[in-house]
Amino acid sequence: MPLAQSWDRVRIKALWSRSFFQQWANPWRHGCTSRKCTFGSDVMLRAIFRNFVVCGTPIALATLDVGAAAQVAARDAPRLSLPIACQLGETCFIQNYVDVDPGPGVRDYKCGSATYQAHKGTDFRLKSTAQSKKGVAVRAAADGTVKRARDGMADVLATTASANALKGRECGNGLVMDHGAGWQTQYCHMRQGSLAVKIGDKVARGQRLGDVGYSGKVEFAHLHFAVRHNGETIDPFSGRSQDGVCDDHWDQAEGLWDERTAKLLAYQSGQVIAVSFSDVVPVLAALEQDHGSAQPHPRSKLLILFARLLNLRGGDRIRLAIAGPAGFNVARLSKPLPRNKATYMAYVGKRRAAPSWPPGHYEGRVQLIRGKRIVCEMQAELALTK
Ligand SMILES: [Zn+2]
Repeated sequence: MPLAQSWDRVRIKALWSRSFFQQWANPWRHGCTSRKCTFGSDVMLRAIFRNFVVCGTPIALATLDVGAAAQVAARDAPRLSLPIACQLGETCFIQNYVDVDPGPGVRDYKCGSATYQAHKGTDFRLKSTAQSKKGVAVRAAADGTVKRARDGMADVLATTASANALKGRECGNGLVMDHGAGWQTQYCHMRQGSLAVKIGDKVARGQRLGDVGYSGKVEFAHLHFAVRHNGETIDPFSGRSQDGVCDDHWDQAEGLWDERTAKLLAYQSGQVIAVSFSDVVPVLAALEQDHGSAQPHPRSKLLILFARLLNLRGGDRIRLAIAGPAGFNVARLSKPLPRNKATYMAYVGKRRAAPSWPPGHYEGRVQLIRGKRIVCEMQAELALTK
């Protein structure tokens, strides 16, 4: 009987559990999924997958002292609510903040490196393009009027070659909203055909504008959200323009987000966004397309634990370990990263030597280590029972 038919049913269930870490650290719920696959007829396999993640609030390394204390944005600035319908830290993540450095340097508002040269917005990313196809709504951050809108561009991850052809249309499908008194917000890279408003429409805060996609100049599915005042880029986290001022003690209340949203958007620089078991060697480019992992079963050739991480800094290390039944043990501590990494994937695993993997519980653990601190930790469990 072919191997693929020897499994009656594979049932994978995701649970989430709390740890003692969450009593002191900011908890970041990891996404829970469940799925069911049918292969054949005679063996029952039950696999339970469980994980949790905890990311502390990293401390920025430096403060650019430009003299004056932070100035809050003009009093007539709109208070902004979350422009995307997702669970921060679970189904979506901030990949990039505004680059507040007007020169060749790169700094986010907390003096960290979670941005890139001249970036003028905040990137709310999804795990994969497949996730965007399920429909993740883009929402108006404040009441306003649609001033500009574009739809009809294909959702395609850009390559170096195709990026040139997108000149002038880097935003992809998107729109600009006017909020009065010189304030505007812009929403980019929306899904083709998803725009739900047109030029001239009056839009209320929270109203759906369309869906997150990957049109325009993009390397991953995300919403690029930008704020401008009289044409000048404003960082919604600080309420300041790209004037070179950053502060690792910045109070969220000084930004433009409303109170509830500011709490959701607690600063993250360096985070684990997913950890999964797999029976194939994962490839980051493929995971950007579809994060759905191939779960190991007792006769998989490989048993692998992998993690996806964002905004790592040079010197960061990643520790991955799997502990399982019958003395199963594998661990790896990476060398310090030679430079910052916006996105990263790391894995550890074993090739099967016996006829099958020993049945029982396997625990996977991933730690992001910065200096002597564990910045972020995520755990996953897999139970294989014949
Ligand atoms: Zn962006």
